Amino acid sequence: MHLRAILKRFKIVTSSINAFCRNTLVSPTNIKLYNMSLVVVGSMAFDAIETPFGKSDKIIGGAGTYIAWCASNYTAVKQISVVGGDFPELELTALTNRNVDLEGVQIKKDEKTFFWSGRYHLDMNSRDTLETQLNVLENFQPVVPESYQDCEFLMLGNLAPSVQRSVIEQLKNRPKLIIMDTMNFWMEIAMDDLKKTISMVDVLMVNDSEARQLSGEFSLVKAAKSILQMGPKYLIIKKGEHGALLFHENKVFFAPALPLEEVFDPTGAGDTFAGGFIGHIAKTKDISFNNMKTAIIVGSAMASFCVEKFGTQRLREINKADIDSRIAEFVQLVNFDINLV
Ligand code: AMP
Repeated sequence: MHLRAILKRFKIVTSSINAFCRNTLVSPTNIKLYNMSLVVVGSMAFDAIETPFGKSDKIIGGAGTYIAWCASNYTAVKQISVVGGDFPELELTALTNRNVDLEGVQIKKDEKTFFWSGRYHLDMNSRDTLETQLNVLENFQPVVPESYQDCEFLMLGNLAPSVQRSVIEQLKNRPKLIIMDTMNFWMEIAMDDLKKTISMVDVLMVNDSEARQLSGEFSLVKAAKSILQMGPKYLIIKKGEHGALLFHENKVFFAPALPLEEVFDPTGAGDTFAGGFIGHIAKTKDISFNNMKTAIIVGSAMASFCVEKFGTQRLREINKADIDSRIAEFVQLVNFDINLV
């Protein structure tokens, strides 16, 4: 090929990489640097959602899916999950285009993808699970690809605690920070197993009712004390529209949720929060308590986008400018001067 033609082709490729990067928070020079940092484990699913205001068809969901869509604004993601032959190829391509590596995603051609359906109450904060079809998740045995071995950060999205543990055990070197999300479902059917996995992680994320269920304490401060004795050094308690609390030793930090006029669908807000939190930590590579405070604000800002539309739709639309201005709104929300008299 003529040199000029080669250079022209190279220019087209680099300009499309630059265009992709302009729309994300990862700059082109950073892509390589962040390439190896974050492994995400979590369900990839079909969801059917009912809210007091509407009902979705079968749409794409899953904890791992939300985390990947969100965290990929900040860093490259190496995904571990399983889907059936019915999971749309286009959805996988969309994630690959976001710098989500799918080598660790198993595709079981003759089986069906995990399915979950839920109905929200009028307050949009609480919900009932209507149906859970485990399908491919029933016998899921994650395999960590060799190329994921050097990860610095591990995000264990909501999945069976034994599956989450298996990923930790397959890693030859312990990541700098292991974060785990879970839900009441596992507390009901696998509490011992869950506590075993919890004892191996650095940061645990649960919502307020799960913190109470896990600890047997009603006061969230007492619940936090008791959960921190189970192993994790940090505990994040999510309180939906009432924000989130971060506990570490005897310190507490509180971040509000952005007051929104309309919450359309809260599904995946917790996972999106987790994606923003770990995305920020992986991008900055700073695991101090102070940086975790910022990460909580980032997670809260990202979650506020998620609830604006059904499923992952809003997360697919937003760009760096949207995210920056949302974070600025958060700063305004909690920014005040006080003169002690
Ligand atoms: P969230 O609203 O953040 O709690 O997460 C909702 C997502 O979790 C949905 O997209 C579901 O597909 C997924 N999910 C629900 N139940 C389970 C489960 N038992 N295991 C794994 N993922 C689940």
